[in-house]
Amino acid sequence: MKLKIFMPTYRANAIVLKENDCLKDDRLFNIYTKEKGKIQIRITGGKKIKNKLAAHVQPFFEIDMLIAKGRSCDRVAGARSAVNFSGIRNDLCKTAAACCLQEVVDKLCKIQVPDDRIYSLLFNYLKLIEDSRLKSWELEKLISFFSLKILGFLGYRPWFEICVYCQKKVFGDKVYLLPAKGGIGCSRCVKDNDKHVTVNKKTAEILGLAYLENTDNLLRLKIEKNQSEEISSVAKKFLEYQLEKPLLSFEFFRTCL
Ligand SMILES: [Zn+2]
Repeated sequence: MKLKIFMPTYRANAIVLKENDCLKDDRLFNIYTKEKGKIQIRITGGKKIKNKLAAHVQPFFEIDMLIAKGRSCDRVAGARSAVNFSGIRNDLCKTAAACCLQEVVDKLCKIQVPDDRIYSLLFNYLKLIEDSRLKSWELEKLISFFSLKILGFLGYRPWFEICVYCQKKVFGDKVYLLPAKGGIGCSRCVKDNDKHVTVNKKTAEILGLAYLENTDNLLRLKIEKNQSEEISSVAKKFLEYQLEKPLLSFEFFRTCL
């Protein structure tokens, strides 16, 4: 007689970040959970049409999961959709924006480092995108503020208020953006070999507000389209400096504008 070994289980509130390739009939996902942070989970036989668990483990849902601990990878033992962000799925641009949030969390967060703030921010911004009546280009600022806040939670906060070298206020209309130094520089301090881009000082000020204001106040800021593009390009530069690789969803999002 074959003995069944029962593995210990735990419950988790989860949001799907990414599906990974899997050669067998199983499906593999990176998910972010309130309880354990980012983890990888497997759905045994998930590629089979009749698999009931796979139907509940999808992007743009908050999922109430029962997970069985595994030797190499935890397995989904039960799943129920708790919140359905259907407004995202029905709109291509919102889908693209939500994919950016998922990619940022997936690529920046390490496995099994729980952070309530990241879970809440991801949930709240998915809700914001779902309910949003913002124009498609305005969704870009949501993605930028989200990215900057996540960088801050993980200890990579860029400083936009003062020069990273002399620690003094930067004067003039333009500032030098220094992703490798984690902030901005003034014309007196920036060295010839510093990799930099020049941005409007107003843009740097708005970027700094991402750490001082809550999201409601950030969304009330009057931001023009060209400024929103500059904010997005700065946020992306800081993200990609930390990741050392491009963010594919951001390119996809831009094709929807
Ligand atoms: Zn300086």
